[in-house]
Amino acid sequence: MAQKYKIATIGSHSALQILKGAKDEGFETICICLKGREKPYKMYNVADKIITIDNYDGFYDIQEQLIKENAIIIPHASFIAYMGPEKVEKFKVPYFGNKKILDWESDRAMERKWLVKAGLKMPKIFKNPEEIDRPVITKFHGASGGAGYFVAKNLRDWQEKMKNYKGEKDYVIQEYVLGVHCYIHYFHSPLTGEIEILGFDKRYESNVDSLGRISARDQIALPKIDPSYVIVGNMTLVVRESLLPLIIEMGENVVKESKKICPPGLFGPFCLETIITPDIEIITFEISARIVAGTNPYVNGSPYTWLKYDEPMSTGRRIAREIKNAIKEDKLNMVLG
Ligand code: AMP
Ligand code: AMP
Repeated sequence: MAQKYKIATIGSHSALQILKGAKDEGFETICICLKGREKPYKMYNVADKIITIDNYDGFYDIQEQLIKENAIIIPHASFIAYMGPEKVEKFKVPYFGNKKILDWESDRAMERKWLVKAGLKMPKIFKNPEEIDRPVITKFHGASGGAGYFVAKNLRDWQEKMKNYKGEKDYVIQEYVLGVHCYIHYFHSPLTGEIEILGFDKRYESNVDSLGRISARDQIALPKIDPSYVIVGNMTLVVRESLLPLIIEMGENVVKESKKICPPGLFGPFCLETIITPDIEIITFEISARIVAGTNPYVNGSPYTWLKYDEPMSTGRRIAREIKNAIKEDKLNMVLG
């Protein structure tokens, strides 16, 4: 029965995991690739079919072909980044997830409203730069993957650094939270109503994660070094077990609130991007309402999915399992948005 539907995604980000998981659940798979990016999908043999496009506009043009193939699209960050939220909303191919959540997630102000209503702690925002009274991080709208953020230690430093961004008006100034970064991978099943924790990761970002390799003395001697946050990869993480009750509650509250703001709410995989302070406060600075690439280390499952499933269960496979269960129960419309 799963054979009737095919699982499709764009070849980047977490496509290897998504397609492998889908095959493990018995689906045929399609990988849509930019010309020249096919090799990994061939090397690991995760795609039954590879459709090559010249650019991402081409993706919009192959909709009819995907519909004929009976494909279900699994979105990931590269898909959203390359297509843009407006085009995603108009996309006619069956789509795993609630598209309406995109508006809440892609607008920083709406995202904050949602998460604050869900009771999450978030970094303080400085609407007026004159009020800066602590280290801050400034994020420009549309800066992707953390390129184009800058850190300032106080107001004077901020004013100095802003000189490099003359004319820029669309940015947010956030308190710089010092602590351990922790990306929490959740899954909410609309079929069972349950929240699952599938795992955690920490990111490996260039150049910020290499600054610790130079002594403070050398960092001062080289004043041109400014941290950047360009994502390069992800590492595994298991959290202190006593943090789990709070982490579970946070996920539950985010889902509960999402049902109020855009029914039927958030479902499938999602990620809270957090920093845990020395006082064990969990500060959330962002949400991703879909699979995150930090789940990639767990193609064979994480310690947490092992506890729950007793079989290899990646996030990609969990998505395919949800779709399979929905088909079996004749509730496919509950997982498509
Ligand atoms: P890419 O397809 O690698 O060019 O990625 C497109 C976007 O997806 C990037 O700009 C990032 O925002 C996001 N992304 C890709 N890989 C990762 C990763 N490993 N961790 C977090 N975000 C990622
Ligand atoms: P984002 O694009 O929001 O995922 O952020 C990219 C990176 O910037 C994160 O992975 C963190 O390393 C850093 N970052 C973002 N917001 C904060 C914050 N409020 N305090 C400290 N670091 C942050």
